[in-house]
Amino acid sequence: MENNILNLVKTPPSSTAGHIYLVGAGPGDPELITLKAMRLLQQADAIVYDRLANPQLLDHAQENCDLIYVGKKRDQHSLPQEQISELLVALARCGKNVVRLKGGDCFVFGRGGEEVDYLNQQGIKCTVIPGITAATGCAAATQIPLTHRDHAHAVSFITGHRQNGKIDINWDLALCKDSTVVFYMGLCNLQDITTELIKRGCPADKPFAVVAQGTSNQQQVVVGDLSNIAKKVENAALASPALLILGDVVKANGYAQSLANQTALKLATTLPEVG
Ligand code: SAH
Repeated sequence: MENNILNLVKTPPSSTAGHIYLVGAGPGDPELITLKAMRLLQQADAIVYDRLANPQLLDHAQENCDLIYVGKKRDQHSLPQEQISELLVALARCGKNVVRLKGGDCFVFGRGGEEVDYLNQQGIKCTVIPGITAATGCAAATQIPLTHRDHAHAVSFITGHRQNGKIDINWDLALCKDSTVVFYMGLCNLQDITTELIKRGCPADKPFAVVAQGTSNQQQVVVGDLSNIAKKVENAALASPALLILGDVVKANGYAQSLANQTALKLATTLPEVG
């Protein structure tokens, strides 16, 4: 990665500014993208993309399109957010029409709000194209209905990520009765999250599913309950990204469990025997 990201902008400034499209790429399966997003990808002069956007989508770019990777890993920001925003402005000022491609939906834990604010402040025109967020993608792929007349009348999306070293979760929200709770970015903190929920009165047998690389052909599913899911996940050696789903809907039909059995079987046949 070059020191100054703006060096990536090779074209001189133009008198007519381009347009920035913040586009949700969907969760993993590259076909889970909207027709509008696909058309914009095919027409873009530049695509600025993240780690979670499926790279196969870049195959649809036109030949002379600039492809700029600004992906982040957990705790390792390959590019600070301010620089990404500046890059978008610089590209637009060169007259380029830019697709800012993000995994899932740009406005669900995607920092889309920050980018839109900056673009608006700088007077750059932008449009947001929604994407299928990980929660709805993983729910569909595992047949876990996020709401259900018999089990859940509400659903919450919560970040399970640590901020300044501590988990800062609205526990009242996570403990709401008759609701489904979906934790994004919570895999590394799964043990702490489940321990705290039990301590705060959530039934230890509350169904819990973890979906890793959901909707992709590498998808893995682990199903258990609040008391045993952390241990099961530890044994399953899941690859990120992974989503945590807590609630009775996990057991609403047997499909998630059957996928979990397949994951366990695959692991048993692929992991070398210990000893
Ligand atoms: N904007 C994205 C979320 C980005 S935050 C969206 O709307 O989906 C990153 C978190 O999203 C990951 O830590 C994980 O919890 C979740 N995630 C993204 N893609 C996923 C996938 N294919 N399977 C499971 N979880 C996923």
